[in-house]
Amino acid sequence: MTWRATILTLFPEMFPGPLGVSLSGKALASGIWALKAHDIRASATDRHRSVDDTPAGGGPGMVLRADILAAAIDAANVPDDPPRLLMSPRGRPLTQSRVRELATGPGALVVCGRFEGVDQRVIEARRLEEVSIGDYVLSGGELAAMALIDACVRLLPGVMGRPESGTDESFSEALLEYPQYTRPQSFEGRPIPEILISGDHAKVAAWRRAEAEALTRARRPDLWTQQKPPNDTTKG
Ligand code: SAH
Repeated sequence: MTWRATILTLFPEMFPGPLGVSLSGKALASGIWALKAHDIRASATDRHRSVDDTPAGGGPGMVLRADILAAAIDAANVPDDPPRLLMSPRGRPLTQSRVRELATGPGALVVCGRFEGVDQRVIEARRLEEVSIGDYVLSGGELAAMALIDACVRLLPGVMGRPESGTDESFSEALLEYPQYTRPQSFEGRPIPEILISGDHAKVAAWRRAEAEALTRARRPDLWTQQKPPNDTTKG
């Protein structure tokens, strides 16, 4: 079944953009996933096609109107009732496990905010799940939506060359990935670690594991504390 990304944006011309090249682009062309970008402005009702207004209570900027955005969501009329996401710096930070969940579902409806954000009432009335891609503020939700969709699409069956390239990498078990090397054998006087060219697969695996653990402990103590104790098979 085709995984469907439905985007609601004021800038539909930004899509597919970077999603149209390389892995995700090939998968899009071959029908593994589908993308539809709807223009929120098409649901505007007044002469000036306005979609935003000044914040109630005052303050800078403009807010996307609840009625216009709700009408746009309703008009998108997406099959299979996928999760409805709102890209938002206030949202729950996106994780690889949420990405994996989304990738195994029918797709996602993704609302891209602009200006100061969207009227709170549409978030509640359309039960939008706010998702953040990090603790920094973008000028719009489009790049955030692209990051989310890219992360999902590369996990769809048939997108990556070898399925195990998805299970070995950073975050697959709350570990950062070990360092990678390829030819040439020596680069500016730095050789590839000898173990990696030894042909001893068990030693290679042990070295990679140790490197991944050391990196995770040093760079991401928050992830390291999520590690399950060795030999504990009772936890997920
Ligand atoms: N005033 C808002 C920021 C609005 S930024 C606040 O302080 O929370 C405009 C839009 O960009 C947002 O509606 C959202 O859709 C998107 N956006 C900005 N930063 C984001 C982030 N870190 N993750 C996801 N979406 C983001």
